[in-house]
This record gives sequence, C-alpha cells and structure tokens, in this order.
Amino acid sequence: MQLITSILEMQQLADKVRNSGNKIGVVPTMGYLHEGHISLIRIAKQNSDFVVTTIFVNPTQFAPNEDFEKYPRDLNRDLAICRAEDVDVVFAPDTSAMYNSDFLTFVNVEKITSILEGKFRPTHFRGVTTVVAKLFNITKPHIAIFGQKDAQQAIVIKKMVKDLNFDINILIGPTIRETDGLAMSSRNVYLNNDERRKATVLYQSLKFAESEIIKGQTNIDTIKSVMEKMILEKQIFTIDYISFNDAETLEEIKIADLNKSILISLAVRTGKVRLIDNIVVKR
Ligand code: AMP
Repeated sequence: MQLITSILEMQQLADKVRNSGNKIGVVPTMGYLHEGHISLIRIAKQNSDFVVTTIFVNPTQFAPNEDFEKYPRDLNRDLAICRAEDVDVVFAPDTSAMYNSDFLTFVNVEKITSILEGKFRPTHFRGVTTVVAKLFNITKPHIAIFGQKDAQQAIVIKKMVKDLNFDINILIGPTIRETDGLAMSSRNVYLNNDERRKATVLYQSLKFAESEIIKGQTNIDTIKSVMEKMILEKQIFTIDYISFNDAETLEEIKIADLNKSILISLAVRTGKVRLIDNIVVKR
C-alpha cells in the first residue's frame, strides 16, 4: 500500500492505472476510520481493480463554530486499517495543498442543499461538493463509494455527478451500526457514557416510524410526535429536525404513501455533539 500526499503524484498514478486498463474505485473519507468506512472499502474492492481511500478533514464543509479543529484524527491507525483491507493507495493531502491561499472556486448544488442538513449547516454541502469534485479530479476514479449514513450527501453527490457530467459511477453502501443500533460515526467518540447509552433511542425511533408506516399509519405528524417524545424523554437531546422525505427527490412528505420510498431522517444535539441518522422505508 502506498501513502500519497502530493496531488500531482496521485494524478500521475491514476493516469497510469487507467492507461493499463484497470478500474479505479475511490472511497472519500475524513479518516478516523471505523467499520462503516471499511464496508465502503470492501464495496470498492469488489467493484474495481485499484482502490484509493482518501483521508482529508475538509475545512470548507465545517462552519466556523463547528468541530473542524477537534475532529478526531489518527493517520497511523487509519493506515493500518487500510493496509489490512488491502487498499492500494491512501491519498492524504495537506490542507494547504488542497486549498491554496488564492483558492476561489466552489461547486454548489442548489435547492436540495438548503433543506434538512443544509438548513442547519448552510455552507456544509458547498464544501462537500467542492472537495469531492477536487478529489474526483485528483484520483480519477471510475466508481466512488459513499455511505447511506449521510443520505442527503449521497443524493447531493449523485446530483452533482449527473449535472456536471462526471464520468463516474456512484455506489451507496448501507449504514453500518453498533450492535445496539447506533450508527457508526467518527464523532461517536465525543459521547460520554450516558450519552452513548441514550443515543440508541435514535435508531429505535426510526424503527418505530418504519413499523408504523408498514402497519398502514399514513399521518406523518402523528408518527413524528411519538418520535419526538421518545427522544426528548431521555432528557439530554435537543432535536434539530425529524423529517420524512421522498428518498429520491427529497421532497417533504406529509402523508405516507408506500408507492414511493420514504427517507426518514433526523438530527439531534447532546452537549457539543451533533448526531444524524436515517432509514429508508422501501416501497
Ligand atoms: P466521513 O469520514 O464521516 O466523512 O465519512 C466518509 C464516508 O463514510 C461517507 O460516504 C459516509 O457516508 C460514510 N459513512 C460514515 N459512517 C458510516 C456508517 N456508519 N455506515 C456506512 N457508511 C458510513
């Protein structure tokens, strides 16, 4: 396995791999890898010949009041995980290499980035699409793998790829969870014991909503109010949103109709930690 930090070196190697007829799969991450990331690396391995994992904590997707500085980082641990997973290249550039002091260009997907996460993190997706576009131009992949854990991000990236004609196939891997249901996240290390124990209510509330819809409950507000009660009962969470949306268009749903797949997503805060999770109820 090779560790590359130079953009030019990564581009030259990607050209070489492509010219030899091999298919490149990229897994973009911010590092501090866990089973969720590993599952995406395995999907990349199954669907390409040459796997690149990118590790870059991207400053442009954090607002000034967010956790960029204290975001967990451990490159040596990440490298050991990638080596064990037989990753071909870890691309881990410096911030200054990715964003020159004269950097002026951003990629912005409109409309679907101003709802849900975008409502609470207005500059977040502009940072995500910009860095992903850059990483695509640097790693030159045939396929790129993203996680369903960040459902809106996956939809936004797919839209960017379609609208800007990136010749890249986007694959989405399922959300990997701890045995008690909590979605794995690098940010889970911020949780204290009490918060960690109580955080299981998020998935429980999503599963409750799913079962209500499957049972035939169509009134979203009724389901939502029970979810809110379940979460607030723990007495440590504030809710940014609980939302029911069309899983493809992100249009908000008021009355459940299983002719369409429904994305149920939520974001909560406890202490300084913000957690997101979602589930898709398939038609
Ligand atoms: P991050 O390092 O948090 O920016 O995530 C990098 C990629 O891993 C994104 O595509 C995430 O959606 C994905 N990811 C994060 N957590 C999980 C998880 N628990 N299961 C599956 N994919 C995940």
